[in-house]
Amino acid sequence: SGKWARVIEILRVLEEDCATPIGKLRQVADAMTVEMHAGLASEGGSKLKMLISYVDNLPSGEEHGFFYALDLGGTNFRVMRVLLGGKQGRVVKQEAKEVSIPPHLMTSGSDELFNFIAEALANFVATEGEDFHLPEGRQRELGFTFSFPVKQTSLSSGTLIKWTKGFSIEDTVGQDVVGALVKAMERVGLDMNVTALVNDTVGTLAGGRYYNPDVVAAVILGTGTNAAYVERAHAIPKWHGLLPKSGEMVINMEWGNFRSSHLPLTEYDHLLDFDSLNPGEQILEKIISGMYLGEILRRVLLKMADEAAFFGDSVPPKLRIPFIIRTPNMSAMHSDTSPDLKVVGSKLKDILEVPTTSLKMRKVVVSLCDIIACRGARLSAAGIYGILKKLGRDAPKDGETQKSVIAMDGGLFEHYTQFSECMESSLKELLGDEASDSVEVIHSNDGSGVGAALLAASHSQYL
Ligand code: ADP
Ligand code: MG
Repeated sequence: SGKWARVIEILRVLEEDCATPIGKLRQVADAMTVEMHAGLASEGGSKLKMLISYVDNLPSGEEHGFFYALDLGGTNFRVMRVLLGGKQGRVVKQEAKEVSIPPHLMTSGSDELFNFIAEALANFVATEGEDFHLPEGRQRELGFTFSFPVKQTSLSSGTLIKWTKGFSIEDTVGQDVVGALVKAMERVGLDMNVTALVNDTVGTLAGGRYYNPDVVAAVILGTGTNAAYVERAHAIPKWHGLLPKSGEMVINMEWGNFRSSHLPLTEYDHLLDFDSLNPGEQILEKIISGMYLGEILRRVLLKMADEAAFFGDSVPPKLRIPFIIRTPNMSAMHSDTSPDLKVVGSKLKDILEVPTTSLKMRKVVVSLCDIIACRGARLSAAGIYGILKKLGRDAPKDGETQKSVIAMDGGLFEHYTQFSECMESSLKELLGDEASDSVEVIHSNDGSGVGAALLAASHSQYL
């Protein structure tokens, strides 16, 4: 019928608008490299903030002792303690607890959020067992992983530039986030030194390097997306401090805020951005990351329901609720291999309360998942390729075999198989066979927490 033809037309236009042929990916990668240079040249020189992390030494393996870490990312935060045993022992023991953040705290006041965090941390400290023994008279030390853009003023202080990923707490912006945490810890009577403040990408880079000396960059694909890498200090014109002894500085790119005329954006992306808490910001993040992929899918389905009666004569009311399709649901549908796509059917039923769907409808839904996820995955690959180009590691150097390892973390990369497979194959496609052999992508599970603890250890007040 005419209606079905309209469904197919909407699908076809989406596919066209999301297309990422290799030439386009190369343009995106080149634009990324250009913006990296601009962001390093001057403050505010680019959409890419290219933030200086104050981490000029990555873990060596010698780190010793007992440290805490706190990881505040998207919807969950984790508290952990680790016992580090140097080159031989490595991470001798590790304990962690995950706490979910009540949604109302993401958009209320700064004190409320930090009180909640400090309380959870205090509760966790109270469960410290015999194995974690602190020498007499020593204060506990913490590495604080904070996955939002921060202008660092030292390794252990920095002001929040803006919230992302659905957080919006006005009174924290421009404030020192370590100061906010310390005050909250004082309020709950917790005595702990915040030794390092790190972005999750920087933590993941540190955690990755701890186990693998060839790690040169880290990428997060979770609720949001971001990357960090090791830059040569003299290649950072905006750095006016002393050149670090190592000659290196870790840069937190904040690549989620990248945008370029080369990005394939659709009508759905423009509207999603317009309706978001941070319009005009985090454009790359909004087409790549876990917070948004399911929402893009919902918007396409809503158009199909509205204009082509995809779900019958009326639009399922649930389909009008923003963010009702979560990315884990999308990946469950995308990976449905049953002949009648029964997972797709049951998800549509559970989430949208659509009692029955035909096989051809389910097939359309899988195609939408594929188009939306693959665009995100291929653009992430282009970003990584851009970093490798910036580092001169995108092509084999004559005579030399320099290995480059990218440490990846985040729930999207970890759990969305089609996404991570598409990302890795696209990166190979960009690099070509020969260079692909010297580039490796590894999953650095929970690297950011351990990484923050390692950085606290290497910057301990007791060293
Ligand atoms: P954060 O980024 O908030 O620190 P994670 O790295 O754990 O936390 O990533 C969580 C995100 O990963 C979720 O918001 C979701 O978007 C995505 N995710 C988790 N599980 C899946 C899944 N099975 N399929 C697709 N995406 C997933
Ligand atoms: Mg995280």
